[in-house]
Amino acid sequence: DRHPAQTQLQQILAQTHARLASVQDGAVANYIPALAVVPPDLFGLAVATNEGKVEEVGDTAHPFTIQSVSKPYGYALALDLLGQAAVRRAVGVQPMAEAFNALVLDPARSRPFNPMVNAGAIAVAGLLGDALGAQAFPTLQDRLSRAAGRPLTLDQAVYHSEAATGHRNRALAHLLHGAGVFGVAAEEAVDIYFRQCSLSVTARDLALMGATLANVGTNPVTGAEVFGVEAVRDTLSVMFTCGLYDGAGDWACRVGVPAKSGVGGGLLAVVNRQLGIGVFSPRLDAAGNPLRGLLACEALAEELGLHLFEPS
Ligand code: GLN
Repeated sequence: DRHPAQTQLQQILAQTHARLASVQDGAVANYIPALAVVPPDLFGLAVATNEGKVEEVGDTAHPFTIQSVSKPYGYALALDLLGQAAVRRAVGVQPMAEAFNALVLDPARSRPFNPMVNAGAIAVAGLLGDALGAQAFPTLQDRLSRAAGRPLTLDQAVYHSEAATGHRNRALAHLLHGAGVFGVAAEEAVDIYFRQCSLSVTARDLALMGATLANVGTNPVTGAEVFGVEAVRDTLSVMFTCGLYDGAGDWACRVGVPAKSGVGGGLLAVVNRQLGIGVFSPRLDAAGNPLRGLLACEALAEELGLHLFEPS
Protein backbone atom coordinates (compact mmCIF):
# COMPACT_ATOMS: atom_id res chain seq x y z
CA ASP A 1 0.00 0.00 0.00
CA ARG A 2 1.12 3.46 -0.81
CA HIS A 3 1.32 6.39 1.53
CA PRO A 4 -1.37 8.97 0.53
CA ALA A 5 1.27 11.66 -0.14
CA GLN A 6 3.03 9.27 -2.49
CA THR A 7 -0.16 8.49 -4.40
CA GLN A 8 -0.66 12.23 -4.78
CA LEU A 9 2.88 12.64 -6.10
CA GLN A 10 2.29 9.81 -8.58
CA GLN A 11 -0.89 11.54 -9.76
CA ILE A 12 0.82 14.89 -10.25
CA LEU A 13 3.62 13.20 -12.21
CA ALA A 14 1.13 11.34 -14.41
CA GLN A 15 -0.92 14.48 -15.10
CA THR A 16 2.19 16.54 -15.92
CA HIS A 17 3.49 13.81 -18.21
CA ALA A 18 0.13 13.48 -20.01
CA ARG A 19 -0.26 17.22 -20.46
CA LEU A 20 3.23 17.73 -21.94
CA ALA A 21 3.67 14.47 -23.88
CA SER A 22 2.54 16.03 -27.16
CA VAL A 23 4.82 19.11 -26.97
CA GLN A 24 7.14 18.89 -29.97
CA ASP A 25 9.00 22.21 -29.82
CA GLY A 26 12.79 22.21 -30.01
CA ALA A 27 15.17 19.84 -31.79
CA VAL A 28 17.25 16.78 -30.91
CA ALA A 29 21.02 17.42 -30.67
CA ASN A 30 22.65 16.65 -34.00
CA TYR A 31 26.32 17.52 -33.51
CA ILE A 32 27.10 13.78 -33.60
CA PRO A 33 25.18 11.10 -35.55
CA ALA A 34 24.71 8.92 -32.44
CA LEU A 35 22.57 11.64 -30.82
CA ALA A 36 20.69 12.68 -33.96
CA VAL A 37 19.04 9.22 -34.16
CA VAL A 38 17.46 9.31 -30.65
CA PRO A 39 13.62 9.04 -31.01
CA PRO A 40 12.52 12.62 -30.18
CA ASP A 41 9.15 11.81 -28.58
CA LEU A 42 10.56 9.77 -25.68
CA PHE A 43 9.54 11.33 -22.38
CA GLY A 44 10.27 10.06 -18.89
CA LEU A 45 9.67 11.75 -15.57
CA ALA A 46 10.96 10.42 -12.21
CA VAL A 47 11.13 11.72 -8.66
CA ALA A 48 13.22 10.19 -5.84
CA THR A 49 12.70 11.38 -2.28
CA ASN A 50 15.21 11.70 0.54
CA GLU A 51 13.52 8.66 2.09
CA GLY A 52 14.51 6.66 -0.98
CA LYS A 53 11.04 6.34 -2.53
CA VAL A 54 10.87 6.59 -6.33
CA GLU A 55 7.85 7.55 -8.43
CA GLU A 56 8.08 7.49 -12.20
CA VAL A 57 6.01 7.80 -15.36
CA GLY A 58 6.75 7.30 -19.07
CA ASP A 59 10.12 6.35 -20.59
CA THR A 60 12.07 6.34 -17.31
CA ALA A 61 13.99 3.14 -18.12
CA HIS A 62 15.15 4.25 -21.58
CA PRO A 63 18.96 4.73 -21.62
CA PHE A 64 20.54 7.93 -22.94
CA THR A 65 23.93 9.59 -22.48
CA ILE A 66 24.34 11.76 -19.43
CA GLN A 67 26.36 14.47 -21.26
CA SER A 68 26.57 17.68 -19.22
CA VAL A 69 24.53 16.32 -16.33
CA SER A 70 27.86 14.68 -15.37
CA LYS A 71 29.44 18.10 -14.79
CA PRO A 72 28.23 18.73 -11.20
CA TYR A 73 29.47 15.28 -10.18
CA GLY A 74 32.96 15.84 -11.60
CA TYR A 75 33.02 19.14 -9.76
CA ALA A 76 31.90 17.54 -6.48
CA LEU A 77 34.59 14.86 -6.82
CA ALA A 78 37.28 17.49 -7.45
CA LEU A 79 36.10 19.46 -4.41
CA ASP A 80 36.20 16.33 -2.25
CA LEU A 81 39.69 15.40 -3.43
CA LEU A 82 41.38 18.80 -3.69
CA GLY A 83 39.38 21.16 -1.49
CA GLN A 84 37.57 24.38 -2.37
CA ALA A 85 40.62 26.67 -2.56
CA ALA A 86 42.53 24.59 -5.12
CA VAL A 87 39.46 24.01 -7.28
CA ARG A 88 38.47 27.70 -7.12
CA ARG A 89 41.94 28.75 -8.32
CA ALA A 90 41.37 26.68 -11.47
CA VAL A 91 37.63 27.27 -12.11
CA GLY A 92 35.39 30.21 -11.17
CA VAL A 93 31.76 30.20 -9.98
CA GLN A 94 30.49 33.02 -12.15
CA PRO A 95 27.60 32.69 -14.66
CA MET A 96 28.62 33.13 -18.30
CA ALA A 97 26.34 34.90 -20.77
CA GLU A 98 27.44 32.73 -23.69
CA ALA A 99 26.76 29.30 -25.16
CA PHE A 100 27.87 26.29 -23.11
CA ASN A 101 30.63 25.38 -25.58
CA ALA A 102 31.99 28.92 -26.08
CA LEU A 103 35.77 29.19 -26.48
CA VAL A 104 36.03 31.68 -23.64
CA LEU A 105 37.93 31.97 -20.37
CA ASP A 106 37.46 34.67 -17.73
CA PRO A 107 40.02 37.21 -19.07
CA ALA A 108 40.80 38.62 -15.61
CA ARG A 109 41.78 35.23 -14.16
CA SER A 110 42.67 33.00 -17.17
CA ARG A 111 40.30 30.32 -15.92
CA PRO A 112 36.83 29.12 -16.96
CA PHE A 113 33.88 31.11 -15.67
CA ASN A 114 32.23 28.09 -14.02
CA PRO A 115 32.28 24.26 -13.94
CA MET A 116 28.87 23.81 -15.63
CA VAL A 117 30.04 24.96 -19.09
CA ASN A 118 32.38 22.88 -21.25
CA ALA A 119 35.51 24.94 -20.49
CA GLY A 120 34.95 24.48 -16.75
CA ALA A 121 34.11 20.80 -16.96
CA ILE A 122 37.22 20.08 -19.06
CA ALA A 123 39.28 22.06 -16.50
CA VAL A 124 37.81 19.85 -13.75
CA ALA A 125 38.61 16.74 -15.81
CA GLY A 126 42.21 17.99 -16.09
CA LEU A 127 42.40 18.53 -12.30
CA LEU A 128 41.14 14.96 -11.80
CA GLY A 129 43.74 13.76 -14.31
CA ASP A 130 46.48 15.58 -12.36
CA ALA A 131 45.31 14.12 -9.05
CA LEU A 132 44.42 10.57 -10.10
CA GLY A 133 46.25 9.77 -13.35
CA ALA A 134 44.76 6.74 -15.13
CA GLN A 135 42.30 6.31 -12.24
CA ALA A 136 40.58 9.64 -12.96
CA PHE A 137 37.78 8.35 -15.17
CA PRO A 138 37.21 5.06 -13.25
CA THR A 139 36.97 7.06 -10.00
CA LEU A 140 34.47 9.49 -11.50
CA GLN A 141 32.48 6.60 -13.00
CA ASP A 142 32.39 4.97 -9.57
CA ARG A 143 31.14 8.15 -7.87
CA LEU A 144 28.44 8.66 -10.48
CA SER A 145 27.43 5.01 -10.14
CA ARG A 146 27.19 5.21 -6.37
CA ALA A 147 25.14 8.41 -6.69
CA ALA A 148 22.73 6.51 -9.00
CA GLY A 149 22.85 3.35 -6.88
CA ARG A 150 23.83 1.04 -9.75
CA PRO A 151 26.89 0.56 -12.02
CA LEU A 152 26.77 3.02 -14.95
CA THR A 153 28.41 1.93 -18.20
CA LEU A 154 29.91 3.74 -21.17
CA ASP A 155 27.93 4.10 -24.42
CA GLN A 156 30.79 3.19 -26.76
CA ALA A 157 29.12 4.55 -29.92
CA VAL A 158 28.59 7.99 -28.38
CA TYR A 159 32.08 8.01 -26.85
CA HIS A 160 33.73 7.25 -30.19
CA SER A 161 31.56 9.79 -31.94
CA GLU A 162 32.40 12.48 -29.34
CA ALA A 163 36.11 11.68 -29.56
CA ALA A 164 36.11 11.69 -33.36
CA THR A 165 34.36 15.05 -33.73
CA GLY A 166 35.12 17.03 -30.56
CA HIS A 167 37.44 19.64 -32.03
CA ARG A 168 35.97 22.55 -30.12
CA ASN A 169 36.35 20.66 -26.84
CA ARG A 170 39.95 19.81 -27.79
CA ALA A 171 40.58 23.49 -28.52
CA LEU A 172 39.25 24.32 -25.03
CA ALA A 173 41.53 21.69 -23.48
CA HIS A 174 44.58 23.21 -25.20
CA LEU A 175 43.53 26.72 -24.14
CA LEU A 176 43.28 25.50 -20.53
CA HIS A 177 46.53 23.57 -20.60
CA GLY A 178 48.25 26.62 -22.13
CA ALA A 179 46.85 28.83 -19.35
CA GLY A 180 48.30 26.44 -16.74
CA VAL A 181 44.88 25.43 -15.35
CA PHE A 182 46.02 21.78 -15.27
CA GLY A 183 49.25 19.91 -15.95
CA VAL A 184 48.05 16.75 -17.61
CA ALA A 185 48.11 16.65 -21.46
CA ALA A 186 45.17 18.39 -23.14
CA GLU A 187 44.25 15.17 -24.96
CA GLU A 188 44.11 13.28 -21.67
CA ALA A 189 41.86 15.87 -20.00
CA VAL A 190 39.42 15.98 -22.91
CA ASP A 191 39.33 12.18 -23.09
CA ILE A 192 38.16 12.02 -19.44
CA TYR A 193 35.50 14.59 -20.38
CA PHE A 194 34.34 12.65 -23.48
CA ARG A 195 34.02 9.49 -21.37
CA GLN A 196 32.07 11.12 -18.57
CA CYS A 197 29.66 12.63 -21.12
CA SER A 198 29.14 9.18 -22.68
CA LEU A 199 27.96 7.35 -19.57
CA SER A 200 24.56 5.79 -20.09
CA VAL A 201 21.76 6.70 -17.63
CA THR A 202 17.97 6.72 -17.33
CA ALA A 203 15.56 9.35 -15.97
CA ARG A 204 15.23 7.14 -12.88
CA ASP A 205 19.03 7.24 -12.42
CA LEU A 206 19.00 11.03 -12.66
CA ALA A 207 16.26 11.27 -10.02
CA LEU A 208 18.37 9.13 -7.64
CA MET A 209 21.55 11.07 -8.47
CA GLY A 210 19.60 14.24 -7.69
CA ALA A 211 18.28 12.75 -4.46
CA THR A 212 21.87 11.93 -3.43
CA LEU A 213 22.70 15.64 -3.66
CA ALA A 214 19.39 16.59 -1.98
CA ASN A 215 20.30 14.17 0.81
CA VAL A 216 23.61 16.03 1.36
CA GLY A 217 25.76 13.48 -0.48
CA THR A 218 24.32 10.20 0.80
CA ASN A 219 22.38 7.94 -1.58
CA PRO A 220 18.96 7.60 0.13
CA VAL A 221 18.39 4.04 -1.14
CA THR A 222 21.79 2.39 -0.63
CA GLY A 223 23.02 4.59 2.22
CA ALA A 224 26.36 5.06 0.42
CA GLU A 225 28.15 8.28 1.40
CA VAL A 226 29.12 9.52 -2.06
CA PHE A 227 30.14 13.17 -1.58
CA GLY A 228 31.14 15.31 1.39
CA VAL A 229 28.84 17.98 2.80
CA GLU A 230 31.00 20.92 1.70
CA ALA A 231 31.38 19.61 -1.85
CA VAL A 232 27.60 19.23 -2.10
CA ARG A 233 26.98 22.77 -0.88
CA ASP A 234 29.31 24.34 -3.46
CA THR A 235 28.01 22.08 -6.23
CA LEU A 236 24.36 22.95 -5.59
CA SER A 237 25.22 26.65 -5.41
CA VAL A 238 26.85 26.63 -8.82
CA MET A 239 24.06 24.46 -10.28
CA PHE A 240 21.58 27.10 -9.12
CA THR A 241 23.37 30.00 -10.80
CA CYS A 242 24.93 28.29 -13.84
CA GLY A 243 23.33 24.86 -14.36
CA LEU A 244 21.17 25.83 -17.34
CA TYR A 245 23.79 27.99 -19.08
CA ASP A 246 22.36 31.22 -20.44
CA GLY A 247 18.89 29.94 -19.48
CA ALA A 248 19.90 29.83 -15.79
CA GLY A 249 18.39 33.18 -14.70
CA ASP A 250 15.06 32.40 -16.29
CA TRP A 251 15.04 28.96 -14.64
CA ALA A 252 15.92 30.44 -11.22
CA CYS A 253 12.80 32.60 -11.37
CA ARG A 254 10.45 30.05 -12.93
CA VAL A 255 11.50 26.88 -11.08
CA GLY A 256 13.83 28.10 -8.36
CA VAL A 257 15.94 25.03 -7.53
CA PRO A 258 19.48 23.88 -8.51
CA ALA A 259 19.49 21.91 -11.78
CA LYS A 260 21.65 20.62 -14.64
CA SER A 261 20.80 19.84 -18.24
CA GLY A 262 22.53 17.75 -20.92
CA VAL A 263 22.30 17.66 -24.72
CA GLY A 264 21.39 13.95 -24.53
CA GLY A 265 17.96 15.08 -23.26
CA GLY A 266 18.61 14.62 -19.55
CA LEU A 267 17.58 17.16 -16.95
CA LEU A 268 18.16 16.84 -13.22
CA ALA A 269 16.75 19.12 -10.51
CA VAL A 270 17.48 19.06 -6.79
CA VAL A 271 15.14 20.16 -4.03
CA ASN A 272 17.49 20.47 -1.08
CA ARG A 273 16.74 17.99 1.76
CA GLN A 274 13.64 16.77 -0.08
CA LEU A 275 13.99 15.13 -3.49
CA GLY A 276 15.64 14.75 -6.87
CA ILE A 277 13.82 15.07 -10.20
CA GLY A 278 15.08 13.28 -13.33
CA VAL A 279 13.66 13.97 -16.79
CA PHE A 280 14.43 12.49 -20.18
CA SER A 281 13.18 14.53 -23.14
CA PRO A 282 15.50 14.74 -26.17
CA ARG A 283 14.28 17.90 -27.92
CA LEU A 284 16.37 20.93 -26.88
CA ASP A 285 15.70 24.67 -26.87
CA ALA A 286 18.08 27.29 -28.31
CA ALA A 287 20.28 27.25 -25.18
CA GLY A 288 20.66 23.45 -25.42
CA ASN A 289 18.27 22.59 -22.58
CA PRO A 290 15.56 19.86 -22.85
CA LEU A 291 12.50 21.97 -23.57
CA ARG A 292 9.76 19.67 -22.26
CA GLY A 293 11.97 18.94 -19.24
CA LEU A 294 11.93 22.61 -18.33
CA LEU A 295 8.16 22.75 -18.66
CA ALA A 296 7.77 19.58 -16.57
CA CYS A 297 9.98 20.91 -13.77
CA GLU A 298 8.17 24.23 -13.84
CA ALA A 299 4.83 22.43 -13.49
CA LEU A 300 6.10 20.21 -10.65
CA ALA A 301 7.59 23.22 -8.84
CA GLU A 302 4.21 24.93 -9.09
CA GLU A 303 2.12 21.91 -8.03
CA LEU A 304 4.41 20.80 -5.21
CA GLY A 305 5.59 24.25 -4.06
CA LEU A 306 9.26 23.49 -4.70
CA HIS A 307 10.64 26.98 -5.47
CA LEU A 308 13.33 27.87 -2.90
CA PHE A 309 11.74 31.24 -2.29
CA GLU A 310 8.17 30.01 -2.02
CA PRO A 311 6.60 32.02 0.81
CA SER A 312 5.09 29.02 2.65
N1 GLN B 1 29.26 16.32 -25.16
C1 GLN B 1 28.65 17.63 -25.16
C2 GLN B 1 29.67 18.66 -25.58
O1 GLN B 1 30.77 18.57 -25.13
C3 GLN B 1 28.10 17.95 -23.82
C4 GLN B 1 27.48 19.32 -23.76
C5 GLN B 1 26.14 19.37 -23.09
O2 GLN B 1 25.54 18.35 -22.71
N2 GLN B 1 25.63 20.55 -23.00
O3 GLN B 1 29.39 19.55 -26.35
